[in-house]
This record gives sequence, C-alpha cells and structure tokens, in this order.
Amino acid sequence: MKQHDAMYIDGSWRPAAGGGTIEVVNPADEQVIATVPAGSAADVDAAVHAARAALPGWAATPPGERADRLAALHGRLTARADEIAGTVTAELGAPLAFSQAVHAGVPLAVCASYAELARTYAFEEKIGNSTVLHEPVGVVGAITPWNYPLHQIVAKVAPALAAGCTVVLKPAEDTPLVARLFAECVDEAGIPAGVFNLVTGLGPVAGQALAAHEGVDLVSFTGSTAVGRRIGALAGAEVKRVALELGGKSANVILPGADLARAVAVGVANVMANSGQTCSAWTRMLVHKDSYAEAVELAAAAAAKYVPGERVGPLVNARQQGRVRGYIEQGIAQGARVVAGGPEALEGPGYYVRPTVFADVTPEMGIAQEEIFGPVLALLEYEDEDDAVRIANGTVYGLAGAVWAGDDATAAAFARRLDTGQVDINGGRFNPLAPFGGYKQSGIGRELGPHGLTEYLQTKSLQF
Ligand code: NAP
Ligand code: MG
Repeated sequence: MKQHDAMYIDGSWRPAAGGGTIEVVNPADEQVIATVPAGSAADVDAAVHAARAALPGWAATPPGERADRLAALHGRLTARADEIAGTVTAELGAPLAFSQAVHAGVPLAVCASYAELARTYAFEEKIGNSTVLHEPVGVVGAITPWNYPLHQIVAKVAPALAAGCTVVLKPAEDTPLVARLFAECVDEAGIPAGVFNLVTGLGPVAGQALAAHEGVDLVSFTGSTAVGRRIGALAGAEVKRVALELGGKSANVILPGADLARAVAVGVANVMANSGQTCSAWTRMLVHKDSYAEAVELAAAAAAKYVPGERVGPLVNARQQGRVRGYIEQGIAQGARVVAGGPEALEGPGYYVRPTVFADVTPEMGIAQEEIFGPVLALLEYEDEDDAVRIANGTVYGLAGAVWAGDDATAAAFARRLDTGQVDINGGRFNPLAPFGGYKQSGIGRELGPHGLTEYLQTKSLQF
C-alpha cells in the first residue's frame, strides 16, 4: 500500500497543512490500496495563491507556446497510458479493456484536441470598428467526480490551460490516484509552476473551500445535482462564473421502422458500460407499443451477457452499491417488473450489483425519473410519436439521448423535439469535439471542442 503525503502546489510536491488522510479502496476486492492527504482550507488557499501568482505570466504566454506545453502533456499522458488504465481499474473497478479504451483513450483525444485548438483558435476577431479580444477568465477551481476520473479532469484542465487560465483541481475522494498521475504528467510536460495545482481532499472541506474562495474566478463542477445546486448558489452570491455538468436520465427512443435488435443491443451496452456510472447513459428505453414485448425479451437476453466481474465491474463504493440496490427495490415496490438481474446481493467481495432490466415502467415512477447511477435500465412503452416526445422530455434532466428510426432524417426530425444537449442518431459515433452539456437541470455550460474552450474565455472589445 502506498502512503502519499504530498499535494502538487506551485510546481512541487508539498506536505498537506492538515494531518488527515483519505483511504483509496479497490472496489473489486475492497482492499485499501493507498492513502492520500486530506487537504484543508489552508491547502486550498496556498494552491489558489499559487494559481493567482502564475496567472499573468501564463495568460501572456502566446497561444502557440501554450499549445506546445499541451502537446507535451499529451505526450506524457500517452507514454503513461498503460499506467493510467491500471490506476483507474484499481481505484474505480472498471474492467481493464474499458479503462484502456475509454478511461485512458478518451482523455488522450481530448488533450490532443486542445493542443490543436490552442494553436488555431481565433483569440482575436474584428467586428466593424472593434477588435474583440478573447481573454482568459482567470483562476479556475475545478471539482471533478470519480466516474470518468481522468476524462473529467482533462475536459476542464486542458481547455482552461489552452485559454490561458490557471487551475486548482479538487478531484473526487474515491479516485485521487489518477489525478496524482495527471499532476506528474503536467510537471514532466514543463508547464510552469502554479499554472496547475492539485489539492486532494473531501468535498465538504476542500471542495467547499475551493468553490467559496474569493481568488477563484470560475468554478467548473461535475457531479451530483445536489452539490451543483449549492456551488451555483455560492457562485451566484459572489457573482463568480460557474459551469455545472450534472446528472441525467437520458432517453433512448426506438421509433417504428428502426432495427430493433441493434437499437436494443446498443442501448443495453450503453447503460452497462462503466457499471452504469455514466451521467449521459441512456437509462430509459422508449419503445412503441407494437414492438415493446419483443424489445423486453431482447433487452433481458442482452443484459444477461453482462456477467459481473467480467464484462461489468463493481460500483465505486459501498454507498453507491447500497443506493443502486435501493432503487431496484423501489422499482419492484412501485410495480415495475424485473426481467433481468434484481436487488439480491452477489457473492463478495466487491461492490457489485446485478445488471438489471425493468419492464412495465411508467413515466412517473422513481426509476424513470431519478438518476440511479448503476447498471439499471427501464423500458417504457409509448403510443405514438407525440407520446414518446412527452415521455422523453418528462424529467428534470436533459443531458443526452438517442433516436433510432428507419432512416436518419426521420430520427433527426424527432431529435429536434427533444429537450437535451446531445442526441445520437441511429448509433452515431462519440465525437470528442462535440459540445457536451445539459438542458434543464443537467447543467450550465458546455465542455469539449471549441465550445468547451469558450467557457474559459471572456471578451473585451476595443473600438477604433
Ligand atoms: P458529488 O458529491 O456531487 O461529487 C462530485 C465532486 O464534488 C467530488 O469531487 C466531491 O468530493 C465534490 N463535493 C462534494 N460535496 C461538495 C461540496 N459541498 N462542495 C464542493 N465540492 C463537493 O457526487 P457523489 O456523491 O460522488 O455521487 C452521488 C451521485 O451524484 C451519484 O449517484 C450520481 O447520481 C451523481 N453523479 C453524477 C456525476 C456526473 O458525471 N454528472 C458524477 C458523479 C456522480 P468527494 O469526492 O469528496 O465527495
Ligand atoms: Mg459526495
């Protein structure tokens, strides 16, 4: 077991001001694999001061040089990709192949995209007799969750650095090890001291101190709606910028004429990936009444192939495991029918939950409204297209979704009626440059690509 006793502040690893530690647990076998320091408000303060001191120099660094540093960071992350995948598997529990392809692979693509954008983005434009400057927002406080731990770090830090901002990161307490690895890569990439700082710690202590710090100009948060609401309120009181990536309850709408077998198989795979711990997961499958019974059978058969410990990993911790099993019990109590999986415990160790499919789900049920964040799929039946739109839009969330039809034009026409930030048409591929973010209570702001970069910029107009 590794006992880490330092945090990355102002370009070096220094001991925490407080004395507490956080245990990092492997959720597949429940063993403690490491400890990291529990940062305090004093540590956050030191990190924010370092970020403020580094801001003028980094903001004035030509974008092409910032691009060079990001390219070097991409090189370091690439060189350590296997270590990244192994670390995420150890602290999150994701199967190694998924960690390699997604937990390591996606952040590499995103980091590369921001090295490129830093080089090519028009940080100055002309509008009539004005020159408009797109300047960095300032010091960014980034607070990230554990479900895609490196992706969520890179999706904030890379655009912030590309924009000329400096950053203090507070990663999730469950997955601090890949955050440490990222900080090592930042250091190896020659990014100047203070431009990026890492404070590990607990949300209500270090996270709260960072969100409330007067030296932070923008708080970028990804996580639960409950915490996001509090961070938004704090930021509002201080007239501080805020970006929130929150929960989802996305709909996978299968229209008549679609390839039902493919739509169901891809839909089940989407929910089971990362043990269902994906904010954009298509956790509601909406099927026309004429195809509903067949879809239920297909979904149950598909889910049965997700064997816990093989194709599907554990949940991140015991609390999430208990929460998800509680939702499965609630679904049964409210009259939904389990056609795969169920709430029963699996042989330990490990925080596993049975991949579960519910039929006979109605739109007002808790399992059709709330983010479960586990391998649980709800199948709902609709009468016609208007009914499907009403059901799909009938939650407080609007993060992602999918539409399947006999042709792309029909699916796209339906997608225009959805109140949601992203829709995949007939199995459209993930695009790391496409703006990602929520309608309604799924959040404020967009991440990834050029839209993600503008979150970290503010505009100044010079009139000539
Ligand atoms: P969370 O508490 O919102 O955690 C997200 C981040 O915020 C973590 O770094 C957390 O630190 C920090 N945090 C917690 N309380 C804070 C506070 N008062 N001030 C500032 N920062 C704070 O989420 P969770 O408890 O890990 O998960 C609960 C549920 O949230 C899940 O079941 C799921 O529904 C949802 N969730 C959504 C996403 C998403 O991608 N949208 C990601 C994760 C979870 P700690 O790690 O110390 O708690
Ligand atoms: Mg929490």
